[in-house]
Amino acid sequence: MSSLIIIGAGPGGYKTALHAAKHGLKVTIFEAGHVGGTCLNVGCIPTKTYVHSASFAEAVERQPQVVEQLRGGVETLLSHPNITLVRERASFVDAHTVETPSGQRYTAENIIIATGSSTKYIPVEGVDSPYVVDSTGLLALKELPKRLCIIGAGVIGMEFASVFNRFGSEVTVVEFLKECLPAIDSDIAKRLRKQMEKQGIKFYMGAGVKSLSPATVPDGSPTGSISVTFEQKGKELSVEADVVLMATGRKPNTEGLNLEALGITLERNGAIPVNEHFEIENCKSSNCKCYAIGDVNGRQMLAHAAEYQGLHVVNHILGIEDHIRFDVMPAAIFTTPEAACVGPSEDQLKEAAVPFECHKAFFRANGKALAMGETEGMVKLCCEPNEGRLLSCHAYGAHAADLVQEATAYITLGATLSQLRETVHIHPTLSEILIETN
Ligand code: NAD
Repeated sequence: MSSLIIIGAGPGGYKTALHAAKHGLKVTIFEAGHVGGTCLNVGCIPTKTYVHSASFAEAVERQPQVVEQLRGGVETLLSHPNITLVRERASFVDAHTVETPSGQRYTAENIIIATGSSTKYIPVEGVDSPYVVDSTGLLALKELPKRLCIIGAGVIGMEFASVFNRFGSEVTVVEFLKECLPAIDSDIAKRLRKQMEKQGIKFYMGAGVKSLSPATVPDGSPTGSISVTFEQKGKELSVEADVVLMATGRKPNTEGLNLEALGITLERNGAIPVNEHFEIENCKSSNCKCYAIGDVNGRQMLAHAAEYQGLHVVNHILGIEDHIRFDVMPAAIFTTPEAACVGPSEDQLKEAAVPFECHKAFFRANGKALAMGETEGMVKLCCEPNEGRLLSCHAYGAHAADLVQEATAYITLGATLSQLRETVHIHPTLSEILIETN
């Protein structure tokens, strides 16, 4: 029986372990923290619990229950007879051996690194203040901050801005770029931001944070809150807050792995370099069968990307051919309303000089959306000329993630916009928005 070591039991690691075990591989999986990783414990699942709670108090109460229940489920899955869970940190001895702090050594033919990522703090003065937290720190708060300043209007910044505004915090977002959510179509991102502004969130766009310092009252004594100083259009401005959320990106977790034992050089962003099968590149060992999946390889920092990369690695080890399209990676942002995308944005297609046409539809013209009272939203489909092969779908509005998921199926299978239009859609559904595009 072939053997596999997996370092990290997040969605990448634990789902890979299960897939491998079901195919007869003997798996040893290492996890120093809780099983389920960032996504289950302090990421996707707790934030979605917040999104679906009526108040902050309810969210704080429900979050541990939801997380514990799911964690219990993962522990049960990992009790598979082909899986051994070692609750320790593993570091490399060589390309086939890892060791734990207790001095135990483990060997396997193949090793997968699935250690995830952690918050990247911007290097500005005052960043170590106790008032500055990352998403994990924000989810640990037991009291709702009256004023919350969020640095970064990426996925994390926008999701927390949306939910804390709904809970009643006064939310200000400071973003370096001109528009939020750089991966989303700029027209859609702008409409979503304007909608969130209407809901009461204050945005400072094109604003680079310079420093964070305890706020002071006129007599010079600190107020017990924090002041965020930034530059916008050549002017220096500041915002006072009780809590500052750092949402300026994440960095791969490679510390403590002793990657020196493999002799690899990390990429500039700290990611482990991998090839199309997620095999580590440039390993000094001639017989290296080490892989890196998920956030740690810096490709697509999404739980489902990690999961499918792991699936592919196991298939690769077993010699099973699969057809996973890593170039068709849908993503969603759980703001209110939701936003989601798959494939290149209109701007990216223009930049790449790809011939394409663009088709739009608005939620306000859809019967189901009107009946639901969810009239705010838009879908943009890009395809090859003459309703040809579908290239991308970007959307915001109620259940945008589900609409994008449908488009993902068409794109993955190489279908055309005409084929999508010819597919019978149930009436009345939000899905009809896809065939209502002009
Ligand atoms: P991000 O890269 O999405 O956004 C960071 C933002 O911070 C950028 O817009 C950037 O311009 C801005 N920024 C950087 N430095 C700044 C400064 N000095 N002043 C002002 N703004 C500054 O990063 P994130 O939101 O932290 O998310 C990290 C990763 O986690 C992403 O890859 C994301 O896809 C993933 N994630 C995904 C989901 C989801 O799929 N729903 C949820 C959470 C996180």
